[in-house]
Amino acid sequence: MENRFCSITAGVNTCHLCFEKAFYSLKLPQRPHRKLPRMELFRCGHGMCASCYEAHTRAAGCFKCPWCRDGCSYIFPSFPHSAAGPPKSSIATLSELVDEWSESLDLLYTTRSPFILLHKQIFEKEKNRQVLCRDLRVQAAKEAAKREEKKKRAAEREKAVCGVCGKATFTSAKQLEAHTRAKHQ
Ligand SMILES: [Zn+2]
Ligand SMILES: [Zn+2]
Ligand SMILES: [Zn+2]
Repeated sequence: MENRFCSITAGVNTCHLCFEKAFYSLKLPQRPHRKLPRMELFRCGHGMCASCYEAHTRAAGCFKCPWCRDGCSYIFPSFPHSAAGPPKSSIATLSELVDEWSESLDLLYTTRSPFILLHKQIFEKEKNRQVLCRDLRVQAAKEAAKREEKKKRAAEREKAVCGVCGKATFTSAKQLEAHTRAKHQ
């Protein structure tokens, strides 16, 4: 997959306009967060929280990304669109695109729309991160088990002293048993 510029990651992001937290859901349509506003994704890979986006578009009239001045995607009226209302003439965020295509999300997912390519990239990155975390957890668990085993063996060695002759150089309880059998029975 080509690597596109993207300032947004899965889950909690910080909005670079208001510095509040906002949530980017990997589900399409995006699942709202219990507390946080949605992190809106633009086709340029920038984004801002939904509250800033509303304020920004209201103030600006027509949308331009405040960081790179990239504008909207214009959609053709023949595209499938939701029954909810007339089609938008322009799409500035992933969620607007998803609203517009709500009847044909499967189809939307196969397009090379920059929004979808970015969303897939965010998804992919999150999946890789999770795999990495899992690998690290497995690795840490293995090391902890090894340390535990070492400790157990050390404790065993400590206890392996012959009660008859006092010999204490055994490396395990088994060795001590063998010694007792051979020397003292
Ligand atoms: Zn914001
Ligand atoms: Zn931008
Ligand atoms: Zn002995």
